[in-house]
Amino acid sequence: MTTTIATADTVRFTLPKLPYALDALAPQISEESMQYHYGKHLQTYIDNLNRLIVGTCFENASLENIVRHADGPLFNNAAQTWNHIFYFLALSPNPKSVPTGQLGTAIDRAFESFGRFKEELSQVAVSLFGSGWAWLVEDKSGKLAIVGRSNAGNPLTDGMRPLLAIDVWEHAYYIDYRNRRADAVKALWERIDWRVVEERYR
Ligand code: MN
Repeated sequence: MTTTIATADTVRFTLPKLPYALDALAPQISEESMQYHYGKHLQTYIDNLNRLIVGTCFENASLENIVRHADGPLFNNAAQTWNHIFYFLALSPNPKSVPTGQLGTAIDRAFESFGRFKEELSQVAVSLFGSGWAWLVEDKSGKLAIVGRSNAGNPLTDGMRPLLAIDVWEHAYYIDYRNRRADAVKALWERIDWRVVEERYR
């Protein structure tokens, strides 16, 4: 009987460094919350991903292609890896608080105003049943849209381009906000860096 394990040269994905310290997003997101969310939950998805791709046709695939084409546990762990990196990289201790330029114009066009957009995305994030993600995306027709996805769901699999992700899994907010998901989402707006989202929209 042979056992397949992930060895040094099959460990393809590693925890990315963040451009801020784990205590830098406080008080909206505490250091302890980051230690668990980034340091443990994301690390576990990455470890599972590295283990699950061994011996599959995805061994040399990009993370994005695994998300687009895999299913089952491999999809779940690849998508959770992709989603979390995308989520953490849009947060900042010194965020640009309002989108301007092309993205600012597109948000006003699609949602009337930035204020209305925040209300709509918050509503989707707060009301999503169970675990999942709320997304700002560019849809196939090039229009901005807000979508909710359960569990590891990622709009890439529907041919949409993700621009911003809000994690509404309980592990994202339970340390700081307990059951108060709405308060967690409200605080998150103060940490989203629109410079990053503008860059993604180019
Ligand atoms: Mn999470």
